[in-house]
Amino acid sequence: MVGKEGRVTLEPVTRREFLAQTAAGVVLGVAAVGALNSKPAAAAGTTAVPGDGPGNRATAIKGWPANNDWENKIRRQEEDLKRALAKPIEQRQWGMVIDLRRCVGCKACTVACKAENHLPPGVVYRPVMEEERGVYPQVQRQFLPRPCMHCAKPACTAVCPVKATYKRADGIVAIDYNRCIGCRYCIAACPYGARSFDAGRFYTQETPRLEPYETEPAPEYGRQWPRQKGRSPIGNARKCTFCLHRLRAGQLPVCVTTCLGGATCFGDLNDPQSLVREWLAGEGRMRLKEELGTEPQVYYLT
Ligand code: SF4
Ligand code: SF4
Repeated sequence: MVGKEGRVTLEPVTRREFLAQTAAGVVLGVAAVGALNSKPAAAAGTTAVPGDGPGNRATAIKGWPANNDWENKIRRQEEDLKRALAKPIEQRQWGMVIDLRRCVGCKACTVACKAENHLPPGVVYRPVMEEERGVYPQVQRQFLPRPCMHCAKPACTAVCPVKATYKRADGIVAIDYNRCIGCRYCIAACPYGARSFDAGRFYTQETPRLEPYETEPAPEYGRQWPRQKGRSPIGNARKCTFCLHRLRAGQLPVCVTTCLGGATCFGDLNDPQSLVREWLAGEGRMRLKEELGTEPQVYYLT
């Protein structure tokens, strides 16, 4: 359903309904994230074969949803992206859907995001939370990737004393590094633990030579941010941008294109033709900490 402000509104799945839909399994997000039930990600005891594409794995593992045309789905999302970018900014609302049944916990998304955004030690935009469930021999490991939720009603923006963090017309919650004073109020306010502080560390700082890749400029927000002491983003709060710099270039977020399980879908929630809307039309849709009223624009399928 499209609301009067052009934002897609989806019936929230209450905790009670969610628990009723699922038989077992609890996935924990960050410490702040409430308990979430989900269907088994894959049948216990099954193993993905290295080098096997998502399609082949989908048919090989019992209980895994069919996903045998992920390459086509990437192309479709790229078409969705083009259509969205052709519209005025206020007419598109970026959103992400993560299918927890497809996530294999490989953390390719986490690593790709670190590389794409040149993230230093202590800064992770997309961790994959995991939890082991059950008692031997009936044990399962469950995974929950957690980017910034890009909330429609973000808790982080209101507390910023210098208005450095704000919500864009297309739904992305952004940080103006030039305004940010590093007070970390936003980090404390985010109920999803999605923000981190850039303390200016380097992976190779204790070694004889700082590796050159560590000082390469970060491309966030369509600018080059050289990594030098006393200059942003060192000393700033940092978070997932939905890869805004890639979107501007007509590319999908890197966590989408690198996801081994084909578990992450991205697009314009205002576009009824988009793959994100198609994924959201099914059963088992949920958002983290729905009860806070932050209205995350990242949805999970369980
Ligand atoms: S959208 Fe980009 S910045 Fe956000 S988690 Fe994915 S890869 Fe990282
Ligand atoms: S890349 Fe995909 S399958 Fe791997 S951890 Fe991330 S979301 Fe899960």
